[in-house]
Amino acid sequence: MQNKKQLTLELAYLYPRLLNIYGDRGNILALRYRCNARGINLNVTTIEIGENIQGDKFDIYFIGGGQDQQQQLVAGDLLQKKSVIISAIDSDAVFLAICGGYQLLGKYYRTKDGNELKGIEAVDIYTLAGEKRMIGNVICKLLDSGERIVGFENHSGKTYFGSGVKPLAKVIQGSGNNGEDGYEGIRHKNVFGTYLHGSLLPKNPYLTDEIILLALERKGLRLPELIIDDAIENIAHKKAEKISY
Ligand code: GLN
Repeated sequence: MQNKKQLTLELAYLYPRLLNIYGDRGNILALRYRCNARGINLNVTTIEIGENIQGDKFDIYFIGGGQDQQQQLVAGDLLQKKSVIISAIDSDAVFLAICGGYQLLGKYYRTKDGNELKGIEAVDIYTLAGEKRMIGNVICKLLDSGERIVGFENHSGKTYFGSGVKPLAKVIQGSGNNGEDGYEGIRHKNVFGTYLHGSLLPKNPYLTDEIILLALERKGLRLPELIIDDAIENIAHKKAEKISY
């Protein structure tokens, strides 16, 4: 039997001051809520510009989205943290990256005025700012489980994949990565990159649990078999599905 007291997960929350658009912080609250409901302690460490990451400490990393201006402010600092983050990803740490943060995990994000923000190349993607903003509620289906997830997107960046990388989901409604190929986000090792704000996790309990499960499995632990009542989460999910694009 696992001792409840031993279950602690450490989460690194990157740039909460600058990258927290459309309530991305709600993802942390959802993770904490579902961890606590299972007797798992979730410790959250915020990491701002200029602060070091203690690489081997964290089980989960989170980075939210932001406008180009905020992305510009964090991009250089993120490059300083590149090697720590890449080795965490290589050792199967779980990483959830939303929109602007997702773009910065790739090779580069080229803004409308041609300015190239270098990413940390943790995943083989690149992003080009497009002419039109892709705004609205998105419904998509996770490629590996077939579960539906919902969220809200607002981006002009169009993300394209290199070879050998897998999208996170198939778009049912909305634009997703680029509005062209019908795919949304990326899934690489335990990295989940996505354009979905909303916040994403409160409306998608399946995905929240998946993240917790992967973080525990990496430490050789199991998800405590406690059934959580998802009634409110499911109402939010269903409501988002009904709002058309
Ligand atoms: N600035 C990026 C874009 O418009 C990211 C926006 C966001 O994080 N919502 O593509």
